[in-house]
Amino acid sequence: MRVLKFGGSSLADAERFLRVADIAVNTHGQSQVALVLSAPAKVTNHLVALVEQTSRGMDATNTLFEINGIFSRLLAGLKAAYPALDDKALQARLTGELDQVERLMQGIRLLGLCPDNVQARILSRGENLSIAFMHELLRVRGLELDLIVPEQLLVTDGGYLEAHVDIEASRLRFAAKGLRSDCLYLMPGFTGGSDKGETVLLGRNGSDYSAAVLAACVDAECCEIWTDVEGCYNCDPRLVPDAYLLKTLSYKEAMELSYFGAKVLHPKTIAPVAQFHIPCLIKNSFNPQGPGTLIGVEQGDDDLKVKAISDLSGMCMFNVSGPGMKGMVGMAGRIFSAVSRAGVSIVLITQSSSEYSVSFCIHSYDLDKTRKVLEREFELEFKNQLLDPLEIMQDLAIISLIGDGMRTSKGMAARFFTSLAQASINIVAIAQGSSERSISAVVRAGKVAEAIKACHQNFFGSQQFIDLFVVGVGGVGAALVDQIARQQPVLAEQGTGLRVVGIANSRQMAVNKDGLNLANWREQLVEARDSFSLEAVQKLVEDSHLINPVIVDCTSSEAIAVQYADFLAAGFHVVTPNKKANTGSLDYYKALRRTARQTRRKFLYETNVGAGLPVIENLQNLIKAGDKLRAFDGILSGSLSFIFGKLDEGMSFSEATKIARGNGFTEPDPRDDLNGMDVARKLLILAREAGMALELCDVEVEQALPPGFDVSGDVEAFMARLPEADGWFRDQFALAQSEGKVLRYVGSIEGGKCKVAIKAVGADEPLFKVKDGENALAFFSTYYQPIPLVLRGYGAGTEVTAAGVFADVLRTQNWKQEL
Ligand code: ADP
Ligand code: ASP
Ligand code: MG
Repeated sequence: MRVLKFGGSSLADAERFLRVADIAVNTHGQSQVALVLSAPAKVTNHLVALVEQTSRGMDATNTLFEINGIFSRLLAGLKAAYPALDDKALQARLTGELDQVERLMQGIRLLGLCPDNVQARILSRGENLSIAFMHELLRVRGLELDLIVPEQLLVTDGGYLEAHVDIEASRLRFAAKGLRSDCLYLMPGFTGGSDKGETVLLGRNGSDYSAAVLAACVDAECCEIWTDVEGCYNCDPRLVPDAYLLKTLSYKEAMELSYFGAKVLHPKTIAPVAQFHIPCLIKNSFNPQGPGTLIGVEQGDDDLKVKAISDLSGMCMFNVSGPGMKGMVGMAGRIFSAVSRAGVSIVLITQSSSEYSVSFCIHSYDLDKTRKVLEREFELEFKNQLLDPLEIMQDLAIISLIGDGMRTSKGMAARFFTSLAQASINIVAIAQGSSERSISAVVRAGKVAEAIKACHQNFFGSQQFIDLFVVGVGGVGAALVDQIARQQPVLAEQGTGLRVVGIANSRQMAVNKDGLNLANWREQLVEARDSFSLEAVQKLVEDSHLINPVIVDCTSSEAIAVQYADFLAAGFHVVTPNKKANTGSLDYYKALRRTARQTRRKFLYETNVGAGLPVIENLQNLIKAGDKLRAFDGILSGSLSFIFGKLDEGMSFSEATKIARGNGFTEPDPRDDLNGMDVARKLLILAREAGMALELCDVEVEQALPPGFDVSGDVEAFMARLPEADGWFRDQFALAQSEGKVLRYVGSIEGGKCKVAIKAVGADEPLFKVKDGENALAFFSTYYQPIPLVLRGYGAGTEVTAAGVFADVLRTQNWKQEL
């Protein structure tokens, strides 16, 4: 015999009922079938609400009406498909059951509470009606049918609401009854019988367990759990869309997975089928041809070490601690006996090795009961301060890694906890079962989605997302977005989902949690209603559970730069070509790095100096390796590189500046380049990287103009006045030339001082040949001397800068695919 159980999701409406009947009929053609049915989706929830409302004296007519609606629509749909259906009889049955519920409600109203046996009667109505409807449907289809009445055959203990089936005793009853081999059996799920033959419940979602015990009682060849997904996935498919289907699971893995929250199987399901070595198959009632997941093999799929990740929400944690715990034999025993006396099941336990405290997690609905029993049990210890007051943390969830293969492999726990840390998730407690088949971490319930996604990315190498908010879409920002648009498909193929979820200018911000369509981002920005603020982007990140959000600041705004520490503290990586933050006060500079370290976020600014040239990273690597910067000379401005290079060719200073401006090599107002401040900022950034504790005002700056040159007036007036500088430059150039040198605008570090000035550079110096907009940086260090480390190349320009920012963005990717 094969036992086929269909859950509420497979019975939600007439169409689905008909599909279930098809599956039953087809399977029955091949082997004998027993069908176990849940109530149609939502019905049990409504019945629970109805009991609660009535117990509290509230009116539950609407709820009853909803239940009636579900079955009435079902009836109409079935009748339409099978006109021969005896709808009158079914309607009478429905009315009869609901009348009975109403009568029971009157009793509850009078009592002001609902006794457990009454509650069991009411909550089991959904399953009973499901069976009545399916019975009629299959009868019309010509099948020979019989019923299995759980009250008569499934012997239970453990009360009316969470009963446990005594399989040995039940098997005897089945054997005594003897099942016919010529008919299809139907049994309502979720219920069993008390010793008096009353209805008892097997716990919420308990129909899976009903099917498993039935399979065990009749020595079924297979127990099939039919649901609304293809089988058991390696994590909750609602949280991770690219979760993948597990072909096989061992009983122990399945048990662990359901115990730690995979809703697809009730935790009690596996034990009975494992005991009798019955294979259990999880199948999709919407796709009967699919392979499903087979539970019961010894060696699982693909030799995966970690098979699945599960989450169990609705947890709270008790911490019992105090000086009286240390060395006291039997404290743990007393705690757990007290809790078990209250009928509360403990989901997870951890104890500190100092024996100072014991922590355990239970379902939140058991919180009050547990608190009361512990307070009673340890009344004296609390009074004498041998125990501290009970510490109770609420709104928690347990994330578990599951896999038989974990026993024999190292580093799983490390990678698990690193994944959580990288997703900015605080771990409240950890536990590993001695079987080493699962490792669990307790986290805040609000972080479950992030935790599952992070672990899935890290353990299963699924697509790793980087979610960008690009602020500032002038030159570099716009070029960056366009570069990303072009590169997205290539990166996706390599497993990186680079999504731009927000694009902002100073007024508006276009957002889309799944990533903006970059083909027309400019139009979307024009139409956008939101505007950029930390609160706005934070909300989006929280609502959409993004785990690797990055703010890319492509403005030159001070107002944004002063917020980086807040961005980092809020869990964003920060990537920027904007130099303002790194050249703000030294205190802020240090605070940024501290915050980034604490929150494990990255602050990346490779393009601050030399645009796309790999300056910062190289310098950082040298310093980390113990090198020391002795001196530095650099041409750090593309526009001044161009202008001073033209002097070599005999061009006048004003002409060179005019051409540079005309070609867009300078800022719109060339004084912003000529005043040397941009070079000074870059120099300060390098000096700070090299460990020098300097402020911007410590950098000595000589502007790239004759001393005392009049820089007043608007830009055009200034440009008209610029030829007055030509004579001075000609003289300086001639002087340099007489010594075989050229003029360069140089940022230097020497003897702990930073200086920006026009310098005569000899042919043997690295900067001599650097012109035409090129940058060059010569680092004289302990390791690099007397010949310096020189980096040369274009150090300005929208496209190369954007490409440098792009590279930084990709560096925020947290996960290494190691499996
Ligand atoms: P039924 O009504 O058939 O009993 P349930 O809603 O109880 O169905 O269980 C199926 C649901 O379990 C799926 O729709 C899915 O959302 C959820 N689920 C959670 N974790 C997993 C998992 N690891 N694999 C498959 N489904 C899971
Ligand atoms: N109908 C019951 C519930 O919703 C049992 C089940 O569907 O498994 O809890
Ligand atoms: Mg279920």
